[in-house]
Amino acid sequence: MDIPLAKPYTDDREIEAVSAVISSGWISQGPKVMEFEAEVAEYVGARFGIATSSCTSALHISLHLQGVGQGHEVICPSYTCMATANAIRHVGAFPTFVEIDPLTFNLDPDAVGRAISSKTRAIMAVHQIGLAAHMDPIRKIAQEHGLAIVEDGATALGGQYKGSRIGALGAPTCFSFHPRKVITCGEGGMITTDDDAFAEEARILRSHGASVSDLVRHEALGTVVASYPEVGYNYRMTDMQAAMGVEQMKKLPWILQRRHEIAQFYDQKLAELEEVEPPFVPEHSVHSYQSYLIRLVANGKIDRDELLRGMAARGISCRHGIAPLHLEPYYRALYGETHLPVTEEVSRTTIFLPIYPTLTEAELHYIVDSLKDLLAHGD
Ligand SMILES: *Cc1c(COP(=O)(O)O)cnc(C)c1O
Repeated sequence: MDIPLAKPYTDDREIEAVSAVISSGWISQGPKVMEFEAEVAEYVGARFGIATSSCTSALHISLHLQGVGQGHEVICPSYTCMATANAIRHVGAFPTFVEIDPLTFNLDPDAVGRAISSKTRAIMAVHQIGLAAHMDPIRKIAQEHGLAIVEDGATALGGQYKGSRIGALGAPTCFSFHPRKVITCGEGGMITTDDDAFAEEARILRSHGASVSDLVRHEALGTVVASYPEVGYNYRMTDMQAAMGVEQMKKLPWILQRRHEIAQFYDQKLAELEEVEPPFVPEHSVHSYQSYLIRLVANGKIDRDELLRGMAARGISCRHGIAPLHLEPYYRALYGETHLPVTEEVSRTTIFLPIYPTLTEAELHYIVDSLKDLLAHGD
């Protein structure tokens, strides 16, 4: 057996769509990017989609446009991808790492409230591994203290909170199309928003600060001249990536359905094991199951790292839980030794199981049987 942790789901349609773009002669950001933006915006229920080179660049632009800059503080979980904090540093601000809820592994709203200082400008609400952060109390805190919100929905395309899709919960939301996410175009990101002015500013910033897009200039045959009102970035997506994204959007319903079926299979099988807890999903949320994270509640014959090695020896690639950012060398040097006990405990005791649409019935049984065997007998 050779079972990876994750695998993108693509077929000939992506190959044909990318080839058609190359043949068309327009390969940088153009009509396909506009099509992909419209598809994603419509799917999540937002008015606008602004495609970018990655989720990180989408977060950078969003923070900047929410007024976050030099010396400000942004409250975010430590239990997240380094990119969340990198984007905060890119605007010159500093992440204030706070605790997560011990059940959902998302921001603990009480901890958010306690972490607000005179320098706090924004809250980065991360919808970790596809499960929505608890937005109602987070929004209330933001309103009371005049803070902006940016949502990191990198993993959360298809996830829902209280009947709305992530991306349409109110704040600018950033998605990733890296191959580890729900759908992919190699690399890429997207901001969704309902705000006209924000969308227009984001389009300008992602393309060198130019007032007019390349496509508009091209179509005007050189009669339109761009001006540059501010310092921008090159954070554009190519039409080759967007063509792949458009095909992936057609597959999204099936991809999500398969992820849910696999999660349900794991949930049922793991319910028989007292050593592990399946992921907790609150009533009001729909998970995207970008990842499937279990927690070891009691070490039977084997500890977490031995379990990982045992699974690897059986040809199954698992992964330890997210490494807390406050323990990374950069933040240790910057902030000194800080501790977030819930975050550290969750990181120490969790393990990702493989989840991707083409996992077969036989592979799923093999994964669960291997896990049971290792927990019962050690390796
Ligand atoms: C993957 C991920 C990112 C970064 O996405 P890129 O597209 O690689 O920049 C940011 N935040 C979270 C929570 C992620 O999982």
